[in-house]
Amino acid sequence: MSTAHLTIDLGALVANWTSLDAMTEVDTAAVVKANGYGLGAPSVGRALAKAGARTFFVAAAEEGAILRTALGPGPTINVFSGHMAGDTDVIRDADLTPMINSVDQMLRHVEALPGAPFGLQLDTGMNRLGMEPSEWSALRDIALAQNPTLIMSHLACADDPAHPMNAQQLGSFVEMTDGIDAPRSLAATGGILLGSDYHFDMTRPGIGLYGGAPFADAAPVVTLDVPVIQTREVAIGESVGYGNAWVATRPSLVATVAAGYADGLIRAIGDGASMYAGQVEVPVIGRVSMDMITVDITDAPHASETLQLLGQLQTVDHLAACAGTIGYEILTSMGHRYHRTYTE
Ligand SMILES: *Cc1c(COP(=O)(O)O)cnc(C)c1O
Repeated sequence: MSTAHLTIDLGALVANWTSLDAMTEVDTAAVVKANGYGLGAPSVGRALAKAGARTFFVAAAEEGAILRTALGPGPTINVFSGHMAGDTDVIRDADLTPMINSVDQMLRHVEALPGAPFGLQLDTGMNRLGMEPSEWSALRDIALAQNPTLIMSHLACADDPAHPMNAQQLGSFVEMTDGIDAPRSLAATGGILLGSDYHFDMTRPGIGLYGGAPFADAAPVVTLDVPVIQTREVAIGESVGYGNAWVATRPSLVATVAAGYADGLIRAIGDGASMYAGQVEVPVIGRVSMDMITVDITDAPHASETLQLLGQLQTVDHLAACAGTIGYEILTSMGHRYHRTYTE
């Protein structure tokens, strides 16, 4: 096996969904956009549906169609981008529920698919998707008369509980939706952790399901084991890799492993990331290449066939911190040539 081995622990995924569900009194959906944060929306979706999730969210109608094929009829599949031009056939055929973002989308939806379900997305200050208060007050009575399945908004700063934006957006959401019968949803993973004021009728966790911050108690879901292609002794003063970026200061043993930035292991991880030889931490050295990473295994007690980059000892958040990014980006960049295995 010459490509890295990505193991996706569906048992841990389900445990994370169950833990997040237990933190609220309300329904817990599952966000599986971007192919289930890179881990495979069909497998992730089926595992969560089996565990009891009845509502899923995707970013685009095309993602919804793939998920519908995996899940079959029954679960609700909501689409954050709403009803865009060209989406009508997919929305109808895959029985998707667009989260309508504007008056234009609303008109498109009711003209193309009269009576078909839809939700509404409101902008409470993030200025990314959804209707602003003025647009909403113009459309509100007409939209509500058609029984939207959900009214939702999204928090910009929920990963920082102390941020005043949270309460500000909560206030706007309440003001815009007070007295409405339709179910409401404001919280993603971060919002769940902000407490019951933020829970409304449904939560929409994504990253927490996949083992990422800000859900600190999440069980790690991914393990990435990378095969060693070759090891070599490097004398004091010799360099390793492009740009001679690393120079040995002691007689060293260096392993070259089979994954690189073409697999989503962005070059920025080179500064400070480690891999693991069993339980022993071994530093990534030199520059990350397209298909290879070099590792100083001098302190590893014995040769191993693989080194681990992600797992119990180093989570996606640890690796993300080395690269100055977030766990979401590490997950959704996971390479297509990894050999993938799902465990229960
Ligand atoms: C991505 C997304 C979520 C899930 O967010 P996490 O931080 O991954 O839990 C929920 N709602 C919306 C609108 C999103 O775009």
